[in-house]
Amino acid sequence: MDRVQAVVIGAGVVGLAVGRALAQAGYETIVAEAQPAIGQGVSSRNSEVIHAGLYYPPGSLKARLCVRGKELLYALCASHGVEHRRCGKLTVANDEGEVRALRGLQDRAAANGVPAEWLEGVQARALEPALQCIAALHSPTTGIVDSHGLMLALQGDLERAGGMVALGSEAVAARLAPRAGEPHVLRFADGSELACDILVNAASLHACALARRFEGLDARFVPREWFAKGNYYALSGRAPFRHLIYPAPGDAHLGTHLTLDLGGQAKFGPDIEWLAVAAPEQIDYRVDPARADAFYAEVRRYWPALPDGVLAPSYSGVRPKIHGPHEKAPDFRIDGPALHGVAGLVNLFGIESPGLTSALAIAEVVAGQIG
Ligand SMILES: Cc1cc2nc3c(=O)[nH]c(=O)nc-3n(C[C@H](O)[C@H](O)[C@H](O)COP(=O)(O)OP(=O)(O)OC[C@H]3O[C@@H](n4cnc5c(N)ncnc54)[C@H](O)[C@@H]3O)c2cc1C
Repeated sequence: MDRVQAVVIGAGVVGLAVGRALAQAGYETIVAEAQPAIGQGVSSRNSEVIHAGLYYPPGSLKARLCVRGKELLYALCASHGVEHRRCGKLTVANDEGEVRALRGLQDRAAANGVPAEWLEGVQARALEPALQCIAALHSPTTGIVDSHGLMLALQGDLERAGGMVALGSEAVAARLAPRAGEPHVLRFADGSELACDILVNAASLHACALARRFEGLDARFVPREWFAKGNYYALSGRAPFRHLIYPAPGDAHLGTHLTLDLGGQAKFGPDIEWLAVAAPEQIDYRVDPARADAFYAEVRRYWPALPDGVLAPSYSGVRPKIHGPHEKAPDFRIDGPALHGVAGLVNLFGIESPGLTSALAIAEVVAGQIG
């Protein structure tokens, strides 16, 4: 049986970032990916927003790793020529309740060390004349990134450091080493096995189900998974905005926001649709045209001139949740040996937004837990 020092399961943005960090730290590293190409999972079905770190509870992994990840990401985009734009974002309020929510967001931004500037409605409209709002919070460090360009850059670094991506390699189970010094043995769908000292589960939507098939990991260390779909609708024609526009945040998600891609095309979403599926294989990614109706009303609160009939179903993504519809969103889980007691094993659970922004910082934490 072949043996390598480190195996990362999953070549999404997080798995590639972790693989890169381990390879650059000198470990012989393989990133095993079930699909025939990198980045076919959640990493290719998101908003491609570089989040500033406004929303997350101060001190949480989401807050710290988003802020740190954002800095690392902008630096990597600059050094590797990954297309991106620091376009900034306006979060807008249209009634007194939303103004209060915006003030709360401003306080949270300050606690997280994230710049955010308060704008009265007239100041916001000076930046974006088509916008309707009575107040707005301007986040100058929010941006957008070409997520595929980013993943290719991570793969390039991984390979330059001697690591490799093994495509078409679906991990199905593992026998974890009972004692330090002995290897973990990973089994693949084709029946082959690979021994390794370090095993990182970055399988995202599949991470919980896979961890349940890790012999030697106590079941209490694997959370229950949930799947929450986010649907996007593309705007036909040009949007009159240069910034990303978000409504003041509600409880469940960030509201029906407008994001721009690097070509300037606008899309609205994601909404939130909890799925009654037991496994990712059962997910239907089609976007229901009828859900667009709800978008018009929400968007017209901040863009009253949105014409009828201009929103077309686009794509969807599914959040790898580890909490149910009526529970508070938990933090990222980066479960290393200090938690579960298995040397060399790290499970990543619940890496939903801002996972793209945080990927490079998550990689630092993982490398630190097993280094
Ligand atoms: C709708 C939506 C919008 C979002 N918007 C943003 C945003 O704007 N900004 C932001 O920062 N974050 C955003 N996120 C979050 C971000 O996209 C994710 O946190 C991030 O992409 C997760 O990356 P990952 O590598 O963990 O997962 P994935 O990209 O899903 O990668 C996991 C990989 O593991 C592979 N795999 C699974 N099982 C196995 C197995 N058994 N063996 C081998 N390989 C396996 C899969 O094929 C896949 O390639 C959004 C998420 C969603 C759903």
